[in-house]
Amino acid sequence: MECRLDGQVAMVTGGSSGLGRGIALLFGQAGASVVVNYRSGREGAEEVVRQIIGSGGRAIAVQADVAQEDAVEAMFAQAVETFGAVDILVANSGIQKDARIGDMSLQQWQQVLDTNLTGQFLCARAALKQFRAQGDRGVSRAHGKILCMSSVHEVIPWAGHVNYAASKGGVSLLMKSLAQEVAGERIRVNAIAPGAIRTAINTEATQGDAAKKLLKLIPYQRIGEAEDVAKAALFLASDMADYVVGATLFVDGGMTLYPGFEDNG
Ligand code: NAD
Repeated sequence: MECRLDGQVAMVTGGSSGLGRGIALLFGQAGASVVVNYRSGREGAEEVVRQIIGSGGRAIAVQADVAQEDAVEAMFAQAVETFGAVDILVANSGIQKDARIGDMSLQQWQQVLDTNLTGQFLCARAALKQFRAQGDRGVSRAHGKILCMSSVHEVIPWAGHVNYAASKGGVSLLMKSLAQEVAGERIRVNAIAPGAIRTAINTEATQGDAAKKLLKLIPYQRIGEAEDVAKAALFLASDMADYVVGATLFVDGGMTLYPGFEDNG
């Protein structure tokens, strides 16, 4: 059995760059029709769509701010109008607004919580309504799948980033509570917690001397690439993971293995 998504419609939020882009492209290769959401990166989203269509797949780009209730509802309506269904949601959009606590404005706190946590709630709720409305489409063993993009910072505290860490800690229990609530409907909800992956969100941390420092935190001794996360997402979204419910898959080169303890015997 292969990880295939033939006949399924996948929505990937924040699909114009980084991890979302990688996931959208791989899902397209795996046979899914892909809804590539973007907030402001229209060109990036359209390029992803072109690549998927160029390889014989189906895709559309849809603008929406995931933190806006009306925009999320309109995005799902557009997806259903175009492809007739939504079978997979990858709630991937996320931002960082870093500051030490004394300097962190309420706006910086609020923006990160709005996008990273409320955005996942709004998209997950809209996806569930759609899954329930369409029922069993016979395209997958589950009757809908949601992947929440978390982070190693759902468990690793991160000084100078309390807004981001709080949002990802929230995603962890949002995902598990939701998984528990809807598993009986054969809807699977899971999460991915990436470590340090080379994307626009962490350009500074993954280059030059900063990259050397970063490698001390990664037992596997390499910085991750978007494809590493996309492959994990494809597994979790496919029937290969049909019995995986409410799990967080850490894709982090061992970052959550407390590497500081390696020589502490
Ligand atoms: P990225 O900046 O390339 O991608 C984030 C995407 O989210 C962008 O396309 C951005 O336009 C979109 N976005 C931001 N706000 C939005 C909004 N309000 N509505 C819709 N889209 C919005 O960075 P990335 O690394 O690809 O991040 C993707 C996800 O992965 C984020 O949730 C991030 O927290 C998570 N993550 C990344 C890493 C890493 O090392 N790169 C590690 C752990 C978790």
